[in-house]
Amino acid sequence: MKKHNFYAGPSILSQYTIKNTADAILDFANTGLSLMEVSHRGKEFVAVCDGARDLVKELLDVPATHDVIFLGGGASMQFCMVPYNLLKKKASYLDTGTWASKAIKEAKLFGEVEVVASSKEKNYTFIPKNYTVSDDSDYFHITTNNTIYGTQIRQIPEVNVPLVADMSSDIFSRPVDVSKYDVIYAGAQKNLAPSGVTIVIVRKDALNRAGRPIPTMLNYMTHVEKESMFNTPPVVPIFAALQTLKWYKENGGITAMQKKNEEKAAVLYDEIDRNKLFRGTSETEDRSLMNVCFVMNDEYKELEPEFATFAAAAGMIGIKGHRSVGGFRASIYNAMPVDSVKALVQTMQDFEKQH
Ligand SMILES: *Cc1c(COP(=O)(O)O)cnc(C)c1O
Repeated sequence: MKKHNFYAGPSILSQYTIKNTADAILDFANTGLSLMEVSHRGKEFVAVCDGARDLVKELLDVPATHDVIFLGGGASMQFCMVPYNLLKKKASYLDTGTWASKAIKEAKLFGEVEVVASSKEKNYTFIPKNYTVSDDSDYFHITTNNTIYGTQIRQIPEVNVPLVADMSSDIFSRPVDVSKYDVIYAGAQKNLAPSGVTIVIVRKDALNRAGRPIPTMLNYMTHVEKESMFNTPPVVPIFAALQTLKWYKENGGITAMQKKNEEKAAVLYDEIDRNKLFRGTSETEDRSLMNVCFVMNDEYKELEPEFATFAAAAGMIGIKGHRSVGGFRASIYNAMPVDSVKALVQTMQDFEKQH
């Protein structure tokens, strides 16, 4: 039976990425060696790393004012690297969920943190709006897509300070105006590659801004100067990332991804709104195009375990909601075909007919 992969992360990758990476693990660039056993400083891998960096720049239209680096440590490492490098005195944060609050916790180790707004009291089911960000903040940090709660920032806030964004779960899903940001970061395992590499896009003149001593490995400058090769980078994830980036390019780039993502999300949200058994958990205007969260309506609540079993039997994998939300979450990242979303909708309709 066909499996439809709705995992939140690590999550679905294109078959193109998986196949090419599998081939390279057996024989990398006709070297007769595995991708896993070659020097990261050999010309074949340097070409991969350069190629991935160039494609990130091309696909996201990264201006010459910014650099792209590949780091280890996951997106979580950026929760401390951002303030370490950029926070002189004060930074502002928008609290839209678990990941945002983890970022806030780390920033407090480096200076004053202004939490401009939070949706915590409603279990992060919406994106706060109409807040003010102090003009004397060093930056304003946002989480563009809240993977756990299924909310997404549609309208990038207009503020007078540089933005910093955790885009782990929606990078490459829609165009971005990179010039507005000092730092954009994203762990690879939601829209790009297996876990192990984090993309960081950093404004050159933000490097060393905080003016404090920074351990070498945690200093963005180190990795910019050494073009992500200060130490051994995550070779296999970077190779896989290059494949995904090529696949994006061959499939019409980021605008085409956005169109496909809007179509997929509409198919699923329409069914959630129509089906008498289900309802969405986040505010309609803030619904994520990447992570679709839903529960069963109160009068059908006890059917949740039965639907979980029913959906699993139909090949729907990874739709259990995060423990802090409950119910279900279907993650429909770039690599998810519209047919898989339609198959989930069919499963929901089949289940409805039985009740
Ligand atoms: C998954 C996720 C993270 C954590 O990523 P790691 O690579 O596991 O550290 C951070 N932020 C967001 C928005 C995420 O979705």
